[in-house]
Amino acid sequence: PTAARVVHVGGQHPYHISIGDGLLDDGIALAARVRGRHALLVSDAHVAPLYARRVEVALHNARPDLRIERAVIPAGEQAKTLAHFGDVLGALAQLGATRDACVLALGGGVVGDLAGFAAACWMRGIDCIQLPTTLLAMVDSSVGGKTAVDLPEGKNLVGAFHPPRAVFADTTALATLPDRELRAGLAEVIKYGGICDAPFLDWLEAHAAALLTRDPAALTEAIARSCQHKADIVERDPFEHGDRALLNLGHTFGHAIEAEQGYSGVGNAALNHGEAVAVGMVLAARLSAHLGMAAAADTARIQALLEGFGLPTRIPAGLDPDLLLARMRLDKKANAHGLRFVLWEAPGAARVVSDVPEDAVLETLREG
Ligand code: NAD
Ligand code: ZN
Repeated sequence: PTAARVVHVGGQHPYHISIGDGLLDDGIALAARVRGRHALLVSDAHVAPLYARRVEVALHNARPDLRIERAVIPAGEQAKTLAHFGDVLGALAQLGATRDACVLALGGGVVGDLAGFAAACWMRGIDCIQLPTTLLAMVDSSVGGKTAVDLPEGKNLVGAFHPPRAVFADTTALATLPDRELRAGLAEVIKYGGICDAPFLDWLEAHAAALLTRDPAALTEAIARSCQHKADIVERDPFEHGDRALLNLGHTFGHAIEAEQGYSGVGNAALNHGEAVAVGMVLAARLSAHLGMAAAADTARIQALLEGFGLPTRIPAGLDPDLLLARMRLDKKANAHGLRFVLWEAPGAARVVSDVPEDAVLETLREG
């Protein structure tokens, strides 16, 4: 393995994000973050057979005294429930986990959010080490301390802010990730360029082929740079009172698309989250242009970049602009700032804009 890249996340509970190949086998580095004698490895049915044993063996070799148990939830968003959250707490009880016990979240954002929330709640909060295995989890969900489960009434309705004790992103785990999941993660990577790093967009344009073929050096660079941006933003605004909302570039439109198609993004026809965000970023760029904030050429540029990554840039056929707008009005109830979007003045210069006029939004949606 080559030396890991490290991103520091400051704030009240600082931690390191390590990015590199072979980190899941680095028992010494992992064990250095495990304080007590109990560890619960939480994973899902896809990831556990691929990687859980490696982590357990590595940890055991470094810390033979450590008692490690495994809790496996089904794969996919459908498992991010209170019921499986309860299963993980049950496993902690079985293990006899004490206040210095540690949860290891090995998987994508679903495992990270659910295991992180269990760690936040067990005895009012124990350590959670994030071991993200999807690109999305490496660049987004494992960093920043948001944890949650879904209710039938909506996504992420129950959760807590609980920063991880450490994050280890092993890029070799991406070898088994389906192509579509990889591209969805790349949409979130591109998002950081759109928010605050125009040179990163140039870099991504130049390295699209390397990233899509999973060149380790290119992936490591993309992940480290994304994590650095997320770290900077959550450090400034850990509880999302302001700037952290910038991370939602493309997401107001994206969430409306996801909701309107019934969160059925696992099927082939519907867009998954990253794909919906890709479309959402093009719409946000176009809305910025409509409002006279940005040049129309910026929309063409982000669209071309996303297309180069094989990501969709148009609203799926059959989704009604009026219904999409209605979905976004529902979002607005939550924040009482009128229709609120992350827009940009130019690539790399995003800002949060409240009270966006509905007719401009509708016009943007109609051009689809
Ligand atoms: P996911 O966890 O469902 O993983 C996607 C699929 O890939 C699953 O089937 C999983 O089993 C499989 N998988 C994971 N790693 C694999 C690997 N290395 N090889 C093969 N298959 C693998 O989805 P996700 O996209 O990682 O995360 C989405 C979740 O993240 C959502 O629930 C979302 O709400 C949450 N999220 C949270 C935050 C946050 O700040 N906490 C931010 C963004 C997203
Ligand atoms: Zn997202």
